[in-house]
Amino acid sequence: MEFSKKDFNEWYNEVVEKSGLVDKRYPVKGMNVWLPYGWAIARRIDELLRELMFSFNHEEVYFPLLIPKDQFAKEEEHIRGFGGEVFWVEKGGDSPLDIPLALRPTSETAMYPLFSLWIRTHGDLPLKIFQIVNVFRYETKQTRVFLRVREIHFFEAHTCHRSYEEAENQIKEDREIWKIFCDRLALPYILNKRPDWDKFAGADYTIAADTIMPSGRPLQIGTMHNYRQNFSRAYNIMFLDENGNRDYVHQTTFGISERVIGAIVGVHGDDRGLILPPDIAPYQVVIIPIVGEDKERIIEESKRLFLEIGGKYRVKLDDRDNYTPGYKFYDWELRGVPLRIELGPRDLKNNVLTVARRDTLERITVPRDRCIEEIGKILHDIQENLKKRAWNNMEDLVERAESLEEIAKSQKVNLIHWCGSEECARRIDQETGKNVLGIPIERDGTPGRCAVCGKETKNICYVGKSY
Ligand code: ZN
Repeated sequence: MEFSKKDFNEWYNEVVEKSGLVDKRYPVKGMNVWLPYGWAIARRIDELLRELMFSFNHEEVYFPLLIPKDQFAKEEEHIRGFGGEVFWVEKGGDSPLDIPLALRPTSETAMYPLFSLWIRTHGDLPLKIFQIVNVFRYETKQTRVFLRVREIHFFEAHTCHRSYEEAENQIKEDREIWKIFCDRLALPYILNKRPDWDKFAGADYTIAADTIMPSGRPLQIGTMHNYRQNFSRAYNIMFLDENGNRDYVHQTTFGISERVIGAIVGVHGDDRGLILPPDIAPYQVVIIPIVGEDKERIIEESKRLFLEIGGKYRVKLDDRDNYTPGYKFYDWELRGVPLRIELGPRDLKNNVLTVARRDTLERITVPRDRCIEEIGKILHDIQENLKKRAWNNMEDLVERAESLEEIAKSQKVNLIHWCGSEECARRIDQETGKNVLGIPIERDGTPGRCAVCGKETKNICYVGKSY
């Protein structure tokens, strides 16, 4: 392979294209074409999310793409936060529309007017819905596949509750879902409570999940927001409680975007290309016949094997005639298929399969008659190994820093003491180019001194140059 992960940016750009995830040549900035292999990964992830959300009692909906301007502008902070990023539809044919229509950048303002019609009494609560749709944001910065795009494949869950406590419990549940989800993607993350000036527009608070790319830069891959009653007041979403009192509902949202695919590419891949966790790989196993003089028999045995394990795993039989086995090895390594089975004359004779792991590049011989369970074990082991390796690598991408100079000098994410003031955060931004990710919520602080002003504090936080 002619690209090296040492130059991460170049490596990333090459891998997303060469492995068949996207075609970047579509003539609108920040809008890429999903190719079959990339779309298959996106669909696997969507299905995983659906399965998880259903098991936590959410229902799936689909709201329209277009949002009338007056409806969009009802929550003041929200419109202030998103105003500059919205694409507008202003004409129908040649005639100007009475009210311009926004292409949803997210769907609060599409859904909440309907919520106010759906919800009448406490019996209608909790309301727990989600949708998986495309959202649009007018990015003016440099775009990058999966990480910064203008058309975003997006999961969003929206909930309504009777009280602040119930909304808080929903955020806890979101964290539980998030953990299961990331285990399946083998992705490591840090949950950070964003500083007030960096929270979602209209939220009471935002918890973001950040992972760290091999470039040493943090990437936000998921968010959970507690809105309190900010939106329900603006959209008049009220319910009648058991005692006949009317009150506004408490709301939360939970969002995940195609950025998780960028994280999978960046976190797991190597100089040969992608490495996909078995739980989300479109193909978990690829069978490559090594044909010699006994060609017909090997093809026949390969098909038999395909039918046998294909009922249990997602399997591809690569029986393309016009490519050498060597080329096929290279091709499927680039695409990150977790397990490759080579089937040649010697394997047939010895009644074994030669199996190659994508994560460790190790080759293993397994008995033909026990292959189903052996493959299962190896896939499970790959999943666990990728997860462990990714968490360890992320730890290595964080270093302590005690001063602005140390933060500026470091190519990694820094763990610092921070007094919590906006002024110190701004100085970090201005003097080091890194931003405060917020207070980690699963980690206790120890006494120390703010890396900027020297004030004693127990607050620790992560800082990094976010994507
Ligand atoms: Zn300070």
